[in-house]
Amino acid sequence: MDKHHANRNIRCNINECANHCAGESCCALDSIEIRCSGTNHPMNKECTECASFQAKSGY
Ligand code: SF4
Repeated sequence: MDKHHANRNIRCNINECANHCAGESCCALDSIEIRCSGTNHPMNKECTECASFQAKSGY
């Protein structure tokens, strides 16, 4: 994965993620997976998460 690739269709400010773009507030991946977080019936945004998140090594 090219960390300098900024996918401007996926805005993200999770700098702790290994897939985050190095230079912009974007994801560096071509696509991501969003899923429910702990429920099958999401009622608000807190019930969703980016399943493509990967913690940077050292965290
Ligand atoms: S994988 Fe998800 S959390 Fe990580 S930078 Fe991309 S959109 Fe953000």
